[in-house]
Amino acid sequence: MSENGAENTAYATDPDEYRHALRRHLATAPSLARFRERGHKSTEERITSDARLMSHLAAEGGWNLYGWPTEIGGLGGDERHRGVLYDELSRSGLPVPEPHLLIETLVPAVTKFSPHLARRHAAAFLRGEEWWGQCFSEPEAGSDLAALRTKATRQADHYVLSGQKLWTSHGATATRLVCLVRTGTTESRHRGLSMLMVDVDSPGVSVRPIALASGDNELAEIFFDDVIVPADQLVGTEGQGWAVAMFLLQYERAMYAWQTASVALRRITELRRLVGELPGPLPDGARRRFGACYVDIITLRARSSQTVRRLAAGDTVGPEASVDKILLASAEQGLHDLARDLLGSDFLLSDSAAVRAWRADWWYSRSATILGGSAEVQRTILADHVLELPKEMAR
Ligand SMILES: Cc1cc2nc3c(=O)[nH]c(=O)nc-3n(C[C@H](O)[C@H](O)[C@H](O)COP(=O)(O)OP(=O)(O)OC[C@H]3O[C@@H](n4cnc5c(N)ncnc54)[C@H](O)[C@@H]3O)c2cc1C
Repeated sequence: MSENGAENTAYATDPDEYRHALRRHLATAPSLARFRERGHKSTEERITSDARLMSHLAAEGGWNLYGWPTEIGGLGGDERHRGVLYDELSRSGLPVPEPHLLIETLVPAVTKFSPHLARRHAAAFLRGEEWWGQCFSEPEAGSDLAALRTKATRQADHYVLSGQKLWTSHGATATRLVCLVRTGTTESRHRGLSMLMVDVDSPGVSVRPIALASGDNELAEIFFDDVIVPADQLVGTEGQGWAVAMFLLQYERAMYAWQTASVALRRITELRRLVGELPGPLPDGARRRFGACYVDIITLRARSSQTVRRLAAGDTVGPEASVDKILLASAEQGLHDLARDLLGSDFLLSDSAAVRAWRADWWYSRSATILGGSAEVQRTILADHVLELPKEMAR
C-alpha cells in the first residue's frame, strides 16, 4: 500500500481507509499551508489558487482523483469518496475548490452520455488544468428552461451555434462550456434540445463577465455567433438534451448540498470563535440561534448522506434531489444571516480578512434559493413529481 495514496486500491474500495489516510496527509503536509490563506483580490485569483490546490493534491498522491472512474483519469471509488474529500478538506481548514461544484455538475453526465468526451477532457478538469462552465440559462429561459432559444443547426459533420447564455458560473474563466441548445423547433420545447460541449477559444464565442454585488466576477454572459462545433462534441445524442440535463441536475443539487454542509460545519465553528472574540457578552438569543442553525446544517447533512449513498449505489435520485436543494439553501442562508446579526457593526465595517470573507459569502448565500433552480420551482417539482399532488385549480 503506498503511503501517499496514489493508485491505492484499498482506498478506492474502502472510503474509511481513504478518509483516514487523507486526514493524515492533510494534517501533516507542510506544502498545503499556503492554500489555507484567504483574501484573494478577485474571483480569477481565487479560482486559480483553488485550481493549484487541485493540481497539488493530484500530484501529491492523487487524493482528489478518488471517486472517479479510472477510464476518465480517476483512481476509482464513488460519490462517497468525493464526499469524504470535501469533508476532510474543509475540516483541515482548506477550501473545497470552487471548480468542484462544476465538476460535480458536469462530469457525471458527460461520463454517462459521452464517455469519449470524458476520456478526452475530464482528467484535465479533475486536475485543475482546465475549467468548465454550464450554459443552460438564457435571458428569457431560467426557471422555464425548455423555452431556451440558443440554436444549433447540423451541417455535415458539425453544428453551427448562435445565441446567448446568461449567469454562467465561472464563465469568465472557463475553457470549455457544456451548453443546452435547441436543435429542434421552438414549439418542440424540451423534446427539441441537445447538449453540446463547446471550446471557449472557438471563433465566434465571446464572454462578458458580470460583476456581482460582492464585486466578484463570478458569472458571465456568453454569446455564440455562428460558432462551429464538431458533431462528436454532442453529449448524448441529438434530441437527448433534456434527459442529459435532468440526469445532471440531480448531481448538481445533491453534491452541492453535501459540499455546502461540509463547509458550513467548519464555518459555524469559526463563527463561534469570532463572535467569542467580540467585546462584551453574547447578544440576546445568540445561543438559541447558534443551536437552530446547527440543527439546520445537521438536518441537511443527514438528508444528504442518504442521497450520496443512493448515487453511489447507482440509484436515480431525480426530482427528490430538490429536497436537498431546499435544505441547503435554508442552512446556507441561516448561517450567513447569523453571522450578519451576531457580528453587528463589525459585519458592515471591519476590514479584517475573516469578516470580509463573511461579508462576501453572505452576498453569495443570497443566491442559494436561485441558482440550480429557484426554491419556488423546487417545491413545485416536489409537489408534481414526488408527492404527485393534483394541479391547483384557479377559482
Ligand atoms: C449565483 C448564480 C449562479 C448561477 N449559475 C448558473 C450556471 O452556472 N449556469 C446556468 O445555466 N445558470 C446559472 N444560474 C442561473 C439560474 O439557474 C437561474 O437564475 C434560475 O434558474 C432562475 O431563473 P431566472 O433567473 O431566469 O429567474 P426566473 O425564472 O425569471 O424567476 C424569477 C422569479 O420567479 C419565480 N418563478 C418563476 N417561475 C415560477 C413558477 N413556475 N412557479 C413559481 N415561481 C416561479 C422564481 O422562483 C423566481 O423567484 C445561476 C444563478 C445564480 C444566481
